[in-house]
Amino acid sequence: MTECCILRVAVNAPLSQLFDYRPPPDASPDALRPGCRVSVPFGRRRECAMIVELGDSSELPATKLKFAHAALDDEPLLNDADLWLVRFVSDYYQHPIGEAVAAALPALLRQGKPLYPVVEHISLTNEGANAAAGELTTKAPRQAAFLHRLRERGGLTGAALDDAMPGWKRLRKNLLAKGWIRIAEMQDTAGDIACRTATPQHGPALNADQSAALQAISNGAGFTVSLLDGVTGSGKTEVYLRLIDDAIRQGRQVLVLVPEIGLTPQFVARLELRLGIAPLLMHSGLGDNVRLAAWRAARDGSAPLILGTRSAVFVPLRNPGLIIVDEEHDSSFKQQEGLRYSARDLAVARGKKLDMPVVLGSATPSLESLQRCSEGHYRRVVLPVRAGKAVPPLLRLVDLAAHPVTDGLSAPILAAMKRNLADGGQVLVFLNRRGFAPTLICQGCGAIAECGRCDARMTVHAGSNRLQCHHCGAVRALDPKCGECGGAVVPLGQGTERLEETLNAHFGDCRIVRIDSDSTRMKGSMDKALALATAGESQILVGTQMLSKGHHFPNLTLVVVINADQGLFSTDFRGTERLAQSLIQVAGRAGREQRQGEVIIQTAFAAHPFWAELLRGGYERVARAALEERELCAWPPFSRLALLRAAAAAKVDAHRFLDSARRIAVALHADEVRILGPVSAPMERRAGRYRAQLLFQSRDRQLLHQVLHSVRSKLERDPLSRRIRWSIDVDPIELF
Ligand code: ADP
Ligand code: ZN
Repeated sequence: MTECCILRVAVNAPLSQLFDYRPPPDASPDALRPGCRVSVPFGRRRECAMIVELGDSSELPATKLKFAHAALDDEPLLNDADLWLVRFVSDYYQHPIGEAVAAALPALLRQGKPLYPVVEHISLTNEGANAAAGELTTKAPRQAAFLHRLRERGGLTGAALDDAMPGWKRLRKNLLAKGWIRIAEMQDTAGDIACRTATPQHGPALNADQSAALQAISNGAGFTVSLLDGVTGSGKTEVYLRLIDDAIRQGRQVLVLVPEIGLTPQFVARLELRLGIAPLLMHSGLGDNVRLAAWRAARDGSAPLILGTRSAVFVPLRNPGLIIVDEEHDSSFKQQEGLRYSARDLAVARGKKLDMPVVLGSATPSLESLQRCSEGHYRRVVLPVRAGKAVPPLLRLVDLAAHPVTDGLSAPILAAMKRNLADGGQVLVFLNRRGFAPTLICQGCGAIAECGRCDARMTVHAGSNRLQCHHCGAVRALDPKCGECGGAVVPLGQGTERLEETLNAHFGDCRIVRIDSDSTRMKGSMDKALALATAGESQILVGTQMLSKGHHFPNLTLVVVINADQGLFSTDFRGTERLAQSLIQVAGRAGREQRQGEVIIQTAFAAHPFWAELLRGGYERVARAALEERELCAWPPFSRLALLRAAAAAKVDAHRFLDSARRIAVALHADEVRILGPVSAPMERRAGRYRAQLLFQSRDRQLLHQVLHSVRSKLERDPLSRRIRWSIDVDPIELF
């Protein structure tokens, strides 16, 4: 059928197509442009949807084509470039477009709330103004006070009156009836975020490496990607500050993305101090109203600097000028559920679309980015040495074959700790495992406490005296007797909680602070612990990777890594890359000011070639070796991967689903795409579901995406697809 105008809208539902509607009869054309929202009848519900395209015809017969209920915006919320991003994300990640739109909007806008909150505005009518000037004062003092107030201020919002004259609502009916006041609805802009400005403080003069880096990055106009590869403390942030300042001076907005735990108060304060501008923060901890206000300030251009975590990559920008992704290797830039996007990769895609520079920074760049540099797509800009006076830390191993441990700590570690503490230094003890112990074992029969819903052991949490599954969150009380034989159970192995206890026994005089996701669950506790550590008031810090990134502890002289060996034998092809990154990052916390830092790593496999590479050649050497290996096996970045995951209550369903996916893919005869599996996931059962996966691998990205697209659209029609959980993970960073 033909129509003058058809709205093609995205609905927030797990469906890949757009839906056609007729425009609401009374809406103005301005409110019906792509990027505007409309409410539509959808099934039996009314949904808030976004117009993505306008068409002049629909494949639906006229009788089936419904009218949208109403237009919700006067102008598009998302502009063409924003809509391009949404479509790109949906295509690239093989994900329903409605959910991609949802990722780009704050919750209140997804729910159909207005861009600006609507508030009541109360003002005087002419009669009211006359009455206020008259003789009310003695007869009705409260009314008089109220009217005077309104006259003084030329009208007030309901919220302002609530503050100024509580109880005013009791007067309202009477005054309305007399015709003395009028109440109108208006947009509230009071919640908008003012970016305070103060006089910026001067930073250090750039050293030669930094100046060269700044020049290389600023060289040329338009889209470029620079990888700022600089050891921890080499002054990357100083280079960012110059770039940001430059862009803002030119009237451009800057978006800075940091990992989940990179949004430390220290970093925010440093930006504000040096730029004289409070960065607009965007992260998952914001309340709905604050988030909406922040989104508006980015969209209307009033916020020059936006600092956010992963999801901020979607924020609309009116005058975009620069995107910086700090710690670009960090895995938290990849969303691991739902819409599985990489914020780093999207930052690059957005930079290209908007023709602006993108800067990726890291002390331990991802192999993907290093390879992009080798191929000439990105510029590699290196800061080889620490800025200022700090020298790089000394790294050494403690061979556990030669030095037995008691409670996780070997004699050389204890000796080094004593020495550093006696010299007034601070020590960081790193163990990437929270809880008291990873295993509870029966001394009688050897039975191990397992999760009833996962193929996993329960972790002992002594503080709460409970067992907890770190995979599904299941919790149960810790029974001191074995469920099988009634024997006594004991915790086996080390978690941060136990380590803290051990350290207390050895260093009772020191103040010890533990930082992990258990100890920092309470709001504000993380900031408090970090403040103690930064001020040097706690001598020993013990914790997980939450402690390893981004922080600056001026007094820290020794970093101890308790157990690095899990990473050496990881089944994941990214195992050594990840291990090297986490070790270099935590090592980077040591000796950041005057004193040289020391890093000691305990390992039971001191002869493993990884250690020789890391100790002699640092991250660069490890990365080079890993890249050679990946090239030989054609793993990323020398090929592209996509993982089709399925999980079902019955194992056979998950496998049957993937078998049919495999058959669909094979029938396409795309020989350049390898199909591996289906196989059961390394941890097969999780939260009561059996999990399996099918891996697609190809050197040809476009072909891979064509295959994925066909497989996906056929699978969506498979009845099994509605009974099981499944997902496509494009560029997965974990293969289980
Ligand atoms: P990164 O971001 O690479 O970890 P920073 O920019 O935080 O490094 O710099 C590390 C430390 O060195 C900071 O204390 C910073 O003030 C200092 N610094 C950076 N550049 C210089 C410089 N050119 N001269 C003196 N000190 C510097
Ligand atoms: Zn579990």
